[in-house]
Amino acid sequence: MEIFDYLQIRLTKFVLLRRKLLLSLSTLLLVSTGLPAWSDNSESLGVPGVRGGVVTTSEPNAARIGADILRKGGNAIDAAAAVQFALNVVEPQSSGIGGGGFMLIYLAKEKKTVAVDSREKAPAAATPDMFVPFVTSGGFGVASTSGVAVGVPGTLLGVAEALDSWGTMSLSETLQPAIKLAEEGFRVGPRLAESSDSSRLQNEIGNPAYDEARKVFRPGNAPLVEGQLLVQSDMARTLRMIADQGTDVFYKGDIAQAIIDTQKATRNGRAEGIGRMTLEDLANYNVVIREPIEDEYRDFTIKSMGPPSSGALTVLQILKLVERFPMGDEEAGFGFGSTRTLNVMIEAMRLAFADRAVWMGDEDFVDVPTVGLLADDYIELRSALINPDVRQVNVLPDDPRPFDTAGVQGKTKLAALSPVIEKGVNTTHFSIVDREGNVVSYTTTIESGWGTGLMVPGFGFLLNNELTDFNFVPALNPDPANFNPGANDVAPNKRPRSSMSPSIVFKGKKPVAAYGSPGGSTIIDSVVNVSMNLIDHGMDVQEAVDAPRIAQTSANGTVRREIGFSEQVMAELAALGHTLRDPADIGSVQAVIIDRDKKTQYGAADRRRVGGIVTLDRNEVRDRDDEDDDEDDDD
Ligand code: GLU
Repeated sequence: MEIFDYLQIRLTKFVLLRRKLLLSLSTLLLVSTGLPAWSDNSESLGVPGVRGGVVTTSEPNAARIGADILRKGGNAIDAAAAVQFALNVVEPQSSGIGGGGFMLIYLAKEKKTVAVDSREKAPAAATPDMFVPFVTSGGFGVASTSGVAVGVPGTLLGVAEALDSWGTMSLSETLQPAIKLAEEGFRVGPRLAESSDSSRLQNEIGNPAYDEARKVFRPGNAPLVEGQLLVQSDMARTLRMIADQGTDVFYKGDIAQAIIDTQKATRNGRAEGIGRMTLEDLANYNVVIREPIEDEYRDFTIKSMGPPSSGALTVLQILKLVERFPMGDEEAGFGFGSTRTLNVMIEAMRLAFADRAVWMGDEDFVDVPTVGLLADDYIELRSALINPDVRQVNVLPDDPRPFDTAGVQGKTKLAALSPVIEKGVNTTHFSIVDREGNVVSYTTTIESGWGTGLMVPGFGFLLNNELTDFNFVPALNPDPANFNPGANDVAPNKRPRSSMSPSIVFKGKKPVAAYGSPGGSTIIDSVVNVSMNLIDHGMDVQEAVDAPRIAQTSANGTVRREIGFSEQVMAELAALGHTLRDPADIGSVQAVIIDRDKKTQYGAADRRRVGGIVTLDRNEVRDRDDEDDDEDDDD
């Protein structure tokens, strides 16, 4: 399929890019800390932690901006707002106000974790079959670059509502650093330069709808050059309008009308590709504050994003499925990177992704058996299918409903599976902890790199293609009361199923780590890999982030792997029957660690992208309460 080729090309590019990034890494990381994972090995590394807060992002300018907010006395939520707006300027291919995301927040005073769902929504006029015409002609490539793929954006309102509820700064204050960056420009980094060569910015040359993004990111249809100054005046104007007039100008005012006009663009003149969003859809967009889904893995509690994301449920299912194996025990043939360890991980991923394809979607629209999927008895039944030395020939989803609600009759071994369409390797994740111990773990996206490739004319931001995260072909069963695999079918006002898994890990009631990743459905696997590296393999956090990853995102598909595993182990996995793809980078994890015993904080950024970490000593951070009058000094 077209999409696989496309993905493969992009992944190959990423491997090349990574080499370049490694060379320039030392200059681009603002402050690199060696980073202990858990309290007992921090001193042995000789790396002092900090107490004033840590910001880790995939782009150094954004990390610096987040840290400046903390320095001024802002909290993690204020810093997250400023980082998100800055990323819209410096990493525009991955996230922005034209997209959506999930922000997990731990509030230190309340000792409470909340999940801010600003996922894009389908317009009211969306229909389950709206992508069907593209299956036979045009495929993901055409559908995802046409207006029909654009979901009603949620990022701006999500950030604004989080600030309102838990921040200490105004929306306008947190926008100022991004406005300055857009207005005065910044030096293009290697990843942005590389990304601007994407085929997504080269569609329909001469068509004003697609030329708009090219004018900024491929002037003269040539990619950006590393080191050049990139000024984005339209973006600056938009952010300033929002700072002056509030979110209404975006959801109900001039910007709203421009969004509606822009999503009418369609590739190849295809009528089916015209976007269906109306002004009413924008005005009606709502952010939802949800409870994260949590479960225990060994001595830790992991909280992550529940529906409409499949993140928490799938991450936790995989971890629960492997929990009965001694994953860290080298003497038992396990330990990092051994054949048994990797086989158990892959088998668990296959089982969990089989269930994901059937049962997970937007729970405001479908019943997701969230309890049953993680119930001990159900996990036991599923985990019993894993043999560390064998590959299951054919993995099927099962029926967790009897474990979810008493009295529902389940039927086991379901045969139907919705097709797995693998999408973007973009998106971005950042993690922040402030001096008070508030934590933000935020995964944010416009879906594919550069989203639809459609930039709102005169306003300088890109529109997402998030609706392609829905099933392309409706999977609704004729007997939905018995079994309904259409959990992720398109429906009016519904949110497409995500894989984003912003997570916070707790020891007892105290948060000890926060992380997440981009990478489409491999996000789930990246979070699993890093969790096991920390918890089972005792790595420090930078090691845990750097270690090679393995990923499987469907019941019976191929296995992705990174460079760095033993080739003999890879051959043994192949001998078990796994089909391994060529090595390619998986994800980009930004993490923070909180050592509550020593009251110190650390961070790690992923070398697979550029990465930016700023750590702050307590004496670098002002007390906002003491100096609340002299704001608006925006540097
Ligand atoms: N749209 C994807 C999701 O919500 C994220 C895309 C990516 O990470 O590249 O799961």
